[in-house]
Amino acid sequence: MRITVLAGGIGGSRFLLGLRELGHDITVIGNTGDDVTVWGLRVCPDLDTVMYTLGGGISAERGWGREGETFRVRDELNTYAGTVVAADPTGWFGLGDLDIATHLLRTQWLRDGVPLSEVTRRLCDRWAPGVVLLPMTDDPVETHVTLADGQTVHFQEWWIRLRAETPAQRIELTGASTAAPAPGVVEAITNADIVVLPPSNPVVSIGTILSVPGISEALRDTGAPVIGLSPIIGGAPVRGMADACLTAIGVETSAYAVARHYGARTHGGLLDGWLVDETDKEAADRLNEEGLATRAVPLLMTDLDATVGMAREALDLAG
Ligand code: GDP
Ligand code: CA
Repeated sequence: MRITVLAGGIGGSRFLLGLRELGHDITVIGNTGDDVTVWGLRVCPDLDTVMYTLGGGISAERGWGREGETFRVRDELNTYAGTVVAADPTGWFGLGDLDIATHLLRTQWLRDGVPLSEVTRRLCDRWAPGVVLLPMTDDPVETHVTLADGQTVHFQEWWIRLRAETPAQRIELTGASTAAPAPGVVEAITNADIVVLPPSNPVVSIGTILSVPGISEALRDTGAPVIGLSPIIGGAPVRGMADACLTAIGVETSAYAVARHYGARTHGGLLDGWLVDETDKEAADRLNEEGLATRAVPLLMTDLDATVGMAREALDLAG
């Protein structure tokens, strides 16, 4: 089967590890709203997390960046910053030495005019992730966050430097209105047998992908069933600060509210099916009553077997 997955970073890529075990033909549409320029290098955190995770190069402990990483360049930059104040504009964004090689190549190719989708394909030639990885768009877009005091910062600054502790007033993908889906993205949704929304952040991963003009339309029009898995269990994100993102867009942090936010296809929304964790059985009952096919199953990706089980449940619900 052809399965298309809209993915952010850690939640998306861990789910993909499980799905890949089932031996289908997988296309991943990756979030590029997190992309940021650091020290002149173009960094694509979510694409790289998918590529490194599926390619066996991810740091298991951190969940981002490379295994066996060193941070000598960062430390050296910090040494400059200790003496030359102007040398530290993005010291909160730590780039590892091995990771920097990826960003050097990407940045050089982008400067040569190679589209991001082709850059990503070239990088994946080395990592052999076992899926086709497409950026959602080749156009330069970035998620920006407007804070309560009206100041606007890059999503990464809000997420990493401010740890999303300062409430966001507005989260927006800059450049979205003129961005187009990357080559193959709409086709991957249209021609899929199943489309999966993995347990990625509903606002700054999946929501960002959906805000590229043409992508949510393709999802609404596809003949494939669209199945989502909740990243929220028992009223809280499993990892990270998705609650701060949901609050910013006025959605309660619950498996029920995230399903309502995506909406059921029968009511003009995106979903044909939704998986919640077994602790959220009540949400499943309510959503079924409201017409969205929902099952309560174990949704913690504690190991590969558990993750394979989640992928099986998603395909089973699609069938
Ligand atoms: P990011 O880009 O690295 O933030 O990763 P994603 O957007 O792909 O995924 C982040 C989401 O994954 C968070 O909201 C977490 O709640 C969710 N998540 C992480 N681990 C698990 C898990 O084991 N089970 C479920 N259901 N969600 C998870
Ligand atoms: Ca991300």
